[in-house]
Amino acid sequence: MSASTLDVCTFLERAADALNLNDDVREVLRHPTRSVAASINVRMGDGSLKTFSAWRTIHSNALGPAKGGIRFHPSVDADEVNTLAFLMTFKTALAGLPFGGGKGGVAVDPGLLSRHELERVARGYVRALRHDLGAGRDVPAPDVNTNGTVLAWMADELAALEGTAQTASITGKPIVLGGIAGRAEATGRGAAKVVLALTDHLKLADGATIAIQGFGNAGAQFARDMHEAGFRIVAVSDSSSAVYSPDGFDPSEAEAYKAQHRGLKGFADAVPGNDLRKLDVDILVPAALGGWIDDTNADDVAAKVVVEVSNQACTVHGADRLTERGVHVVPDILANSGGVSVSYLEWVQNRSGEQMSREKVFADLDQRMAEMATAVARRAAEDKTDLRSAAYRIAVSRIAEAIESMGTRRLFNE
Ligand code: GLU
Repeated sequence: MSASTLDVCTFLERAADALNLNDDVREVLRHPTRSVAASINVRMGDGSLKTFSAWRTIHSNALGPAKGGIRFHPSVDADEVNTLAFLMTFKTALAGLPFGGGKGGVAVDPGLLSRHELERVARGYVRALRHDLGAGRDVPAPDVNTNGTVLAWMADELAALEGTAQTASITGKPIVLGGIAGRAEATGRGAAKVVLALTDHLKLADGATIAIQGFGNAGAQFARDMHEAGFRIVAVSDSSSAVYSPDGFDPSEAEAYKAQHRGLKGFADAVPGNDLRKLDVDILVPAALGGWIDDTNADDVAAKVVVEVSNQACTVHGADRLTERGVHVVPDILANSGGVSVSYLEWVQNRSGEQMSREKVFADLDQRMAEMATAVARRAAEDKTDLRSAAYRIAVSRIAEAIESMGTRRLFNE
């Protein structure tokens, strides 16, 4: 079960308590700034008309235009979109980006749609929500089940409606349409850089073992980069199977196998019960849908470190239980912020007209991730707290400064 917005507000309340913040900030951040629901009517290939529910939430724009992906998944609902938008607010603040937090979603299973139907859903989303989107308002990006092609359809639709190019209004576009080199690798690569910057804090030795739940874009890239850095990938899973080889394997071979056999089944030994949580590894990496570690299974986790490559991989209770047990959790708002960091570079590129090379993007990303991870670890050590609390404290103080700079409480007290 995934966490609700009410749950994740706990992270905000704890940070606000620790920072001794006034009530203005809590009051503002407890509620999304704007939440829009829409219905998208799509003419299907068989001639029937089907309606899909869609949402877009701006959780906060205190630090700048809202930023966050659009998710296509049958389980998406308003609460999930609000929760994910909430996380984006703290993710962009922690990363020091001039963005607030937003998120969108459509309740749809893209696997059941033809390519033309999928395009109509993407374009329909933009038609329904066009007044909420824009480079200075709210800037969507890819998320679960949306990729460069989907975002290209969306940017094209917005451009057609507005009558001007909309490159800076949507990130994650194909490079030829104003996208940026390295965006596809950014989330997995960024997560790997975070772990590498935290090896001392997490007490990880050379050749530490890793199990990855979810072998999609982010999980596979993380695996490649960690393998290259000398870590051992010993287990990976996809939606139908989990495979394990105690000596480790080259993740590129697992990827090639998966592409050829349409799944990982048979690549290595099957994991008992398909459950990676119980494997005796050093690092467990949830990289699929959220809510995978909760209070019912947190005690099963055998790893010493959990890296939340997926958003809200642990529910609040699940995360608390892991922390109580001494398991280090690298929180989503730190671990997976490489994606939005490179989205920021794409937005800058589109606004300035500059074309950034892959080398420049990676150099910028690598430095950002290492600095952010180091700052969070330092704060955790200073405050004698866990990494998530440290990350939220840094993020919340930045947002609080922005809210306070608008002067309300101070002016009333003067
Ligand atoms: N969907 C990604 C996330 O959850 C990326 C957001 C973006 O690039 O704006 O961080």
